[in-house]
This record gives sequence, structure tokens and C-alpha cells, in this order.
Amino acid sequence: VIEIRDLHKSYGQLEVLKGVDLVAEKGHVVSLIGSSGSGKSTLLRCCNLLEESQQGEIKFEGEAVRWRGEGHNRHPADRAQVTRMRTNLSMVFQQFNLWAHMTILQNVMEAPVTVLKRDPKEVEEKARHYLAKVGIADKADAWPAMLSGGQQQRAAIARALCMEPRALLFDEPTSALDPELEQEVVKVIKALADEGRTMILVTHDMKLAADVSDHVIFLHKGKIEEEGPPARLFGNPQTDRLRGFLSATA
Ligand code: ATP
Ligand code: MG
Repeated sequence: VIEIRDLHKSYGQLEVLKGVDLVAEKGHVVSLIGSSGSGKSTLLRCCNLLEESQQGEIKFEGEAVRWRGEGHNRHPADRAQVTRMRTNLSMVFQQFNLWAHMTILQNVMEAPVTVLKRDPKEVEEKARHYLAKVGIADKADAWPAMLSGGQQQRAAIARALCMEPRALLFDEPTSALDPELEQEVVKVIKALADEGRTMILVTHDMKLAADVSDHVIFLHKGKIEEEGPPARLFGNPQTDRLRGFLSATA
């Protein structure tokens, strides 16, 4: 679904991604791990073109992103393509940022109705379906402030699902939550992995990464230091850096 080759990204002089490759095949879960500042969020945001990159190729469903210009002057050339990619790669953030002035149901329906121009009646049916799937069907008419953090994050996941994207991108979806609430969200992510959703998951939760991933990428200072199947990465890390990182997070 997503294929990234030799991606380079800088903020001014600061080089944040130094030639990164990432492939997320259909039905696979790829996890990104690494220390704070290693470039995990930046890489995720480059995947759906929320961030621009200066070099390298991004392919979505076999279709390469078209660029104009070079280096810091490189921008996506085709707005329609950007919109298509964004709507097909739904992102779930650490801070769930639901609209406070809309009910949970309205939050989930918002983008499919306004961006995709879908029929509100059909969207409502889907929205209720996804709210039930994440276990908060009874919160459809509640305001975000009335929900616990775990419930709000599950609403944010329902909102992403309601776009019926080709892949889900998660940026530390559990790290703003208390440990008890974290587990509710972990359960939802595991269920999505089990049903064969394509996902890229940035997480500090090594147990979650070990459980759901087909492939794990350890980023260090904007480069892939080590990658492979979770059993090997966690069971038999090859580099001192990964060994050090895993013992620090254990
Ligand atoms: P964390 O685990 O703390 O979320 P991360 O691996 O997600 O870290 P990024 O957020 O991708 O790291 O940041 C990578 C580097 O890019 C950091 O040095 C950060 O300070 C820098 N950076 C991120 N966003 C910006 C920005 N908008 N402008 C300038 N520098 C940025
Ligand atoms: Mg981050």
C-alpha cells in the first residue's frame, strides 16, 4: 500500500530523516520505534504528505507521488493526488483532538460528509457501526468532554475508520493515556491488526509492537539502525543501540 525509498527530510539545517525506506504491504502492520527525536512522527507525517520531504520517493498503491522542484523547493505537484492520499491514509494522533462543539457521532461523520461528500444517512450508519466496533456505541450523542481519555481515543479511531482508508497511521495512540485506559485502546488496535488492516504504528509500547507487528523498524537519529520481524528484533537484537534502547524502555 505504501512504499517509501531513500526519504530525506530537513527542517532548515536540521536533517531529521537521512535516507529512510519503509514498505507497508496490504494487511501488514509496520511499527516504528526509537528514542525521542529519532524522526518517527516526521516519517509518519511524510507518509501521508502532511510534511514535505526534499528527496526520495513515496508510492501509494503503486502510484508514485509527483513532485515539482527540488530540495527545499520540492512540493507535491498534484493537489488531487495529495487529497487522495490523505483521505486514504487516516491518521490517529497522540492527542485525539476531537471537535469539542460536536457530539461524538458528529465528530465521526464530519470528514466523510464534508470532505468525501458522502450521503449523511449512509455515513451515520457507518459511523454507528464503527463506534460499536470500538465499544462506545452508547456515547454517540455525548460531547467529547464527557468521555474518558480512552473513550476519546477510541472515538478518534472510529473517526479514522469511518473514512474507510486503505491504511491507518497511528502516532503514539496510547501515550497520553493512563495505564488502565491504555489497555482499552490497545485492544482496539489488536482487533484491527487481527482483521488484516494495513497500519503503520509509532509506539513506545514494545509489548504492543511485538504483539501486532509484521515488521518493526528501529529509527536512530533519522536512519534505520535495525529492522526485521518482531521476534528477531526484540528477541535477538543485533546492534548495541537497539539493545541499549530496549533495556532502557523495559
Ligand atoms: P518523540 O518520540 O518525542 O515523539 P519522534 O521520533 O517522533 O520523537 P520527531 O517528532 O519526528 O521525533 O522529531 C524529529 C526531530 O525533528 C527532532 O529533533 C525535532 O525537534 C525536529 N522537529 C520536529 N518537528 C519540527 C518542526 N516542525 N520544526 C523544526 N524541527 C522539528
Ligand atoms: Mg513523535
